[in-house]
Amino acid sequence: MSVALERQHAGGVQPATSEVVYSEDARDVGWVARNIPCQHACPASTDVPAYIRAIAEGRHGDAYEINREANVLPGVLGRICSRPCEAACRHGWPGNGESVGICNLKRSAADLKQAGHRITERLYGPTGKRVAIVGAGPAGVAAAHDLSMLGHEVSLFERESQPGGMLRYGIPDFRLPRDILQVELRNALRLGVLLYLDHAVGKGSGRPLADLLRDYDAVLLAAGCMAPLPLPLQGEWKGRDPADVCPDVEHGLPFLMALHRGDTKTVRRRVAVVGAGFTALDCARVAARLGAQEVIIHIRTAEEYIPVTKEEIFEAKREGIRIRGLRTPVGIELDAGGRLTGVRFVQNRLGGWREGGRRVAIPIAGSEFVEPCDTLLIAIGQKTVNDFLDVAVELDRWQNVRIGADGMTSVPGLFAAGDYVTGPATVIEAIARGRESATKLDAWLMGRPRRKRVVKIVPVAQPLRERQFDFIARQEMPTAALAERNQSRTLEVELGLGAAGSAAEARRCYLCNLRYQIDVDRCIYCRACMDVAPRACIKLVSGVDVAADGSTETLREAKEWNQVGAIWIDNNECIRCGACFKACPVQCISITRNEFAEVDL
Ligand SMILES: Cc1cc2nc3c(=O)[nH]c(=O)nc-3n(C[C@H](O)[C@H](O)[C@H](O)COP(=O)(O)OP(=O)(O)OC[C@H]3O[C@@H](n4cnc5c(N)ncnc54)[C@H](O)[C@@H]3O)c2cc1C
Ligand code: SF4
Ligand code: SF4
Ligand code: SF4
Repeated sequence: MSVALERQHAGGVQPATSEVVYSEDARDVGWVARNIPCQHACPASTDVPAYIRAIAEGRHGDAYEINREANVLPGVLGRICSRPCEAACRHGWPGNGESVGICNLKRSAADLKQAGHRITERLYGPTGKRVAIVGAGPAGVAAAHDLSMLGHEVSLFERESQPGGMLRYGIPDFRLPRDILQVELRNALRLGVLLYLDHAVGKGSGRPLADLLRDYDAVLLAAGCMAPLPLPLQGEWKGRDPADVCPDVEHGLPFLMALHRGDTKTVRRRVAVVGAGFTALDCARVAARLGAQEVIIHIRTAEEYIPVTKEEIFEAKREGIRIRGLRTPVGIELDAGGRLTGVRFVQNRLGGWREGGRRVAIPIAGSEFVEPCDTLLIAIGQKTVNDFLDVAVELDRWQNVRIGADGMTSVPGLFAAGDYVTGPATVIEAIARGRESATKLDAWLMGRPRRKRVVKIVPVAQPLRERQFDFIARQEMPTAALAERNQSRTLEVELGLGAAGSAAEARRCYLCNLRYQIDVDRCIYCRACMDVAPRACIKLVSGVDVAADGSTETLREAKEWNQVGAIWIDNNECIRCGACFKACPVQCISITRNEFAEVDL
């Protein structure tokens, strides 16, 4: 579809100068989805530019609230989020420098909000409906938060003695201090959620799932994904789990969970960790803190394909942990007393690409070798456990529970979310899926959806940033001294950006939610804007094609003057510097802030 060129507005609603407009036009929705890459990449659709702007203006409490609306646990995510937003950030695009420290700023919002900050939540009246949730990890907690806000009575059943799931029992304190976790969980569950700790649900627990389905209007399973995958060894070890026979071999996740339940765990002098995810990195860093003199992480492919943040790899290496790539374990070596002396590996070479951006590792025949070690921690992944189910629920061929578009399993009134459905994922994905599930569960309980997403368009009087902000360097996260880290398992490594560092980092953000547009009726085609533009962001076009669903906007650039239909700001190229706005002699360039908003139906 081509849009009329009398003014640059590919969307359906053009606000008058001072009016706030709420639009459901697909082209406005499409503009926000296309033009705010960080928000689009965030599974929970966090309004990143809005909270970064609040930090730049010193409104840290507001920044915290904007985060809480989308991702429920900002103080947690600001420390350990997998940061898909930063990989997408426009500031990190080729030629633009480094991405904005979005995650570090989320932490700043939580750290710097005033002690007297008041949480504001939109509350709905009581519905009289009762919902049970199984599992108090991030997915269950996020769903409990939303469902309680929507007026339902929520009971959250957790088999451990504390809530938090992998946030408490997987991730170590030096990455996520427990007092921070405690505050964030309390904030999330404060709207009257009934939390039942030490309450396992399902077979053999005394609280069958069938009873919950009978006693509650709906049940949500958010039981995580915690069964460690065994090492697929060869030769004499084929089909056997060395953790069953050797006291020096353990699976990484139960090792971390036992430690975080308060058990005493030890490692010997030379520790080998196999695996390449969060659990492997955490096992290695914990082993160093437990006194190991040598810790090596062995991976099948190469370091650049490890699916954890580059900051975590950097800190692990600074702590003396080594990463050795292109090797797959095929056996273990024991001495006469049954104690571990080494791991037998085969050397790999890199093959093609696998789904999800990973590389294939191809073993090289005859290349086996032994790495000496005396503790082995296995952290190659997890699968879901379904043996607690006492009702027949349909599973897929990977034994994950199957849910429909309505979020429900094959059992009426039984919903599922988080790692329990997706397999091992990330905290932000678990929160996003928990929230999505709460919305669907609410619609099912109430017989209709109660909220919808629209685009709020707010006129902005003038540019909110200066061109020189583009040259501010990314602020480095201060960290604890290396010499102190191994003194305590709980000493937090990352220390926060502080007020000055946060303000500087926040100024780097382009504020991609600002939409610059030229009123073609008033433009005199002097091209002063093009002269000051820092890049090819303003174009002479013969036409513009916008998909009916708003998903694409294609500019047809004019080659000759007689083909020019309009002068157009390419918002994909625009870095919101404000130079054109200031240079225009007839003030025909306008700015609006376009953002998603949830409204009642
Ligand atoms: C060591 C480790 C480090 C990680 N680091 C990161 C990181 O830095 N960043 C990141 O984004 N992600 C990280 N992850 C992944 C992330 O923690 C998970 O994706 C996320 O916690 C999944 O949330 P969830 O709520 O679906 O499940 P979980 O967090 O696993 O919670 C499930 C909860 O259900 C409870 N439960 C299970 N069965 C029952 C039952 N029958 N009755 C009652 N309760 C039950 C469990 O006790 C648990 O509390 C890490 C994971 C691990 C293991
Ligand atoms: S520059 Fe700011 S708004 Fe734009 S993608 Fe990066 S963090 Fe998001
Ligand atoms: S604000 Fe104007 S000059 Fe600056 S990048 Fe955007 S279109 Fe170009
Ligand atoms: S400076 Fe203003 S009047 Fe001149 S070409 Fe640009 S938008 Fe049009």
